[in-house]
Amino acid sequence: VPRVLIVEGRIGDVKPVRTAIIMSPGTWLWVDAGIATTPRDAILPELRRRGLPPPERNLLLVTHCDVDHFGGAAALRAEVPGMTVLAHPADARLMEDLDVLIAERYDRFGSRGIPAPPARLTQLRERAGAAVRADVHVRAGTGFDLGEAGMWEVLELPGHSAGHLGLAARDGEVVFAGDAVMGRGVLDGTGSLQPPHYVDVDAYLGTIDRMASLQIGTLHLGHEPALSGDALDSYLELSRQTVHEIGDAVSRATGGVGTADLAGICEAVHASLGHWPDAPAAALADPITAHLRASSGRMPA
Ligand SMILES: [Zn+2]
Repeated sequence: VPRVLIVEGRIGDVKPVRTAIIMSPGTWLWVDAGIATTPRDAILPELRRRGLPPPERNLLLVTHCDVDHFGGAAALRAEVPGMTVLAHPADARLMEDLDVLIAERYDRFGSRGIPAPPARLTQLRERAGAAVRADVHVRAGTGFDLGEAGMWEVLELPGHSAGHLGLAARDGEVVFAGDAVMGRGVLDGTGSLQPPHYVDVDAYLGTIDRMASLQIGTLHLGHEPALSGDALDSYLELSRQTVHEIGDAVSRATGGVGTADLAGICEAVHASLGHWPDAPAAALADPITAHLRASSGRMPA
């Protein structure tokens, strides 16, 4: 029996999505559930293929409120005995009501001239499957003693979402961190690079610094190959650098178009950085809004 099994599913044609299962004899601790179809298409077949039936106690830690991380939770709860869902309260609030999730996370900018396309909202609802109520709210420091599978501890890694969680081996050697850091962006299901998504600049930069300070042996993210050593250091530096690039581009753009025209700022930042040629400019609305809020907060009274 492996100590940690990582199952890779797919979102669309090319975007990988990973579920980790830390296996001890009586208890499995799962990290993230993929989209609604990931359990049926990837996770459960992999467990059957390996002859690994889940034990009587199963804990699912959902790193954050995006549909590609919690969407499979309802299906797992139906298929896996005693599945208990754990999440941070800030993100649990969005996972338990899809209308709130859409309004607060995926379609926030309609009143600022950037409504989410209806087809995208339909796709997000499909991927969410069903709303999921967290059974237990967890925060930093919550620990799990999994015997021979080790001691594990919850990390709070905010920025991508307000209540983003990670899970670290007590020795720091392995960390699962969902989408807590995003480099220069993430490929979507069709293979186009989407900008990094963060909703709070200082929190996101703090999370990047925190990860750099943890002396992580191997970092597992939701959609990237495992990172360690120099590749991990470079990825964290690229994550940090990309935030500063976006922030600088926002400053330049707001000089030209003012802060009221969010769509115009998105277009200007998208064009000036050029990193995400196949992504819509509106994909920058969340990080740009985060920078606008951060800079207004720093403005002298
Ligand atoms: Zn994700």
